[in-house]
Amino acid sequence: MKRTLQWSAAFVAGTLLPLGLVGTAATAAPAPSIAPQSERSLVELPAKDALEGAVAPSECGATLLDGYIDQLFADMSDVQFAFLVAHQDALLAVPTYDALFFGTAGDPDYALDSHAAQLRNTYRDLQRFWDIESDDIQLMAMHSDSLLDATRIARTLEAMVDTGELPFMSDAAIATEAQTVATFMQAQDAAFQDNPLWTLNAYAFSAEGETDPIIAALPDKLVFGDGILAAYDAIGLGDVGPRVIMAHEFAHHVQFELGTFDNGPSDPAEATRRTELMADAMASYYATHKRGLALNSKRVTDALLSFYTVGDCSFASPGHHGTPLQRERAADWGADLAAAAQPRSLVLPAERVIELFEEDLAEIISG
Ligand SMILES: [Zn+2]
Repeated sequence: MKRTLQWSAAFVAGTLLPLGLVGTAATAAPAPSIAPQSERSLVELPAKDALEGAVAPSECGATLLDGYIDQLFADMSDVQFAFLVAHQDALLAVPTYDALFFGTAGDPDYALDSHAAQLRNTYRDLQRFWDIESDDIQLMAMHSDSLLDATRIARTLEAMVDTGELPFMSDAAIATEAQTVATFMQAQDAAFQDNPLWTLNAYAFSAEGETDPIIAALPDKLVFGDGILAAYDAIGLGDVGPRVIMAHEFAHHVQFELGTFDNGPSDPAEATRRTELMADAMASYYATHKRGLALNSKRVTDALLSFYTVGDCSFASPGHHGTPLQRERAADWGADLAAAAQPRSLVLPAERVIELFEEDLAEIISG
């Protein structure tokens, strides 16, 4: 089944938490148990992978963002961390799914705030750069304040249950969980209320091919979380990172438009790796091209690799994005294609870029 919601933010599954904090958190929360993400969800939740890594540290490779994410966990009190473990489905998913199910581009609750002008300009520039129909994509933000509002939490959990994103919960259980989370969040300091982990995400969504009536009715979206923007600012990539992520997410919309998801390998892990590496290549092509952002290719690759590494340790997972080496090769491939443009201002049709990428994919993933 094709993954309609192409997620972006991903970071490494092996985020480490200082062992001492794991110990105390384990005491505070009787049985910290992090449910693995389901086989196929509408949106991947990178913070969920990070939480898994925090509770059971793994040996996965590190990215520029790891230290930043470690610190977000370390800065929580034991009570906060225990609450997060116990209510992870709400804290790590509600802002994402609230925007997916209820966000609209014109609603002030979903207005871009951080990096707003930069994101809007890049979005318009991408619409000009790629020769596809993109007027119908809604660009919006997701903020963590949905977690302060029991009504918003409840409607989001209900929609997640109705669409199978969460196992069954009764209306009463949903209402209780929503009230518990909203009440706890309202009593926390700003650092916890606005923790980047709740919105450490950016994703492209298209309902094309979906049969669930709730999902099929949703418009095309490109959603940016405040958390991913804060993370890039914190690691010194606030200038390049958000624009490159935008380019990667926009590439997924190009893929939706051209039916690229429909003609890939049948193995879900291989299929995801193909479309993710292709999105990296297209992001790099745009970001380094003279008619695109004309950015330095090393910085573009740093920005891509720091974030889109969710699959590093899960090569058979449907969420696998490719190894860091494969991703670097894909990004280099896009930069080389841009550098080879004759004349320099020539932008290839999206269909042609994809075709050329397919020809070289075997080499990009070799070894
Ligand atoms: Zn992606």
